[in-house]
Amino acid sequence: MYIMKILYIFLPILIIISIFVGLFFFIYENETDNQILGEVHEHADFKLYILNEEYNFSQEKYMSDEKIKNNFIHLHDMDGDLIHSHIKGNTLEFFFFSIGIKFNSTCLILDNKSSYCNDKNNKLKVFVNDNEDKLMEKYILNDLDKILITYNDKNNNINEELKYITDKACIQSGKCPERGEPNIESSCTSDGCKVIENG
Ligand SMILES: [Zn+2]
Ligand SMILES: [Zn+2]
Repeated sequence: MYIMKILYIFLPILIIISIFVGLFFFIYENETDNQILGEVHEHADFKLYILNEEYNFSQEKYMSDEKIKNNFIHLHDMDGDLIHSHIKGNTLEFFFFSIGIKFNSTCLILDNKSSYCNDKNNKLKVFVNDNEDKLMEKYILNDLDKILITYNDKNNNINEELKYITDKACIQSGKCPERGEPNIESSCTSDGCKVIENG
């Protein structure tokens, strides 16, 4: 009889707890896994400077046009100033990885294997919207970010480099229509993205 009493009291409580736990995981799973590609379409302006030289990303090999290098994040239409994100949570590291470049807080290794690592003279730094960001490669991109990655000595003029970051993301994300219509993109528009299979 005593056991039955305990069951009567605890069973409903146990059932309620299970339902809540189940519900939590259900919602959590759906929020993390069910990001639909193309639902997000964000842009960030960026520049990379290596020893006072601007690095040119407007090269065919870095573009996702006929052949998509990466569906989640990429460069389009020979424009090496503007990163397109099609999913939330993209880090700088993942962006560079997608175009064959290794980047972490100590080293930058280009696709041609040239490496630029922190030493006693030169350091890698990341600036997001004019402020140094210590997260470096772990920084998660946001819409309209202006990002500077720089490998230079301490005499380097950061302000000069920051000045050259373009201001295209706002137009391309449709956030400042007064400045003009977004450019038509090879595989994506501000309404969404046509996913092309990796080829
Ligand atoms: Zn875009
Ligand atoms: Zn795209």
